[in-house]
Amino acid sequence: MPELPEVETVRRGLAPAMTGAVIAQADVNRPDLRWPFPDGMAERLTGQTVLGLRRRSKYILADLSGGETLLIHLGMSGRMLVSGDPLGQFAHEHPQAEKHDHVVLHMDNGARITFNDPRRFGAMDLMDTATADQHKLLSILGPEPLGNAFNEAHLIDAFDGKNSPIKSALLDQRIVAGLGNIYVCEALFRGGISPTRKAGRIAKPRVVALVPIIRDVLSEAIEAGGSSLRDFRQADGELGYFQHRFDVYGRENEPCRTQDCNSVIQRIVQSGRSSFYCKSCQT
Ligand SMILES: [Zn+2]
Repeated sequence: MPELPEVETVRRGLAPAMTGAVIAQADVNRPDLRWPFPDGMAERLTGQTVLGLRRRSKYILADLSGGETLLIHLGMSGRMLVSGDPLGQFAHEHPQAEKHDHVVLHMDNGARITFNDPRRFGAMDLMDTATADQHKLLSILGPEPLGNAFNEAHLIDAFDGKNSPIKSALLDQRIVAGLGNIYVCEALFRGGISPTRKAGRIAKPRVVALVPIIRDVLSEAIEAGGSSLRDFRQADGELGYFQHRFDVYGRENEPCRTQDCNSVIQRIVQSGRSSFYCKSCQT
């Protein structure tokens, strides 16, 4: 499941192929993904110039010249493929159409953007750009973890009196937008905080320290994604999935990487999701 760094990597990969280009043709091959597509989506996209690509949480937002914004969500298994980019950044032949190619955008610069999603948990929607932040998926979101509104005071305030484990608090999209299971595990490891500790019972200096840690964990992954883009340009044009080294995530029973720590990484299930952590380093 793509998390924020993967989505940001997809956005960065799409930008050179889409920004400033006109959607010459839009193929919408089914009526819905997770939700129905908006009425007349193909017609509303056709002829639009893509003014820019933004990201909010795990949504990619393409602002169009006609005043609408296309929202793209990759869901569980959504993939974006770029082929035929004339700028030479994606030197890929257009692939044969595949079964789960649900939406295909033919750009006037020769690029083709394919949204493929076998499990169909992804989504696309159109909204007025001016009121995009009021969209039902976006209006509920808290601050961006890499933005200025996510800061020490905000996190202290959000955790104040909270009885839920810090793991759930950090996954709460109203507290911080776009943080998912993997990067919460990694941030708590670096912060030395047990995922089971109640959010409201953590000393303020430890909460304060989490802010730069969360930013670092995400920024490092985005950087790894950036390096992966160069490889994907040479490979099959698929964007956004890359190998990244995690300290705890997916490392059950493997040795803790903290120097002189002899413990192994534990896995527990919290609210139906795996938490990976070191019992010695995280208290
Ligand atoms: Zn340890």
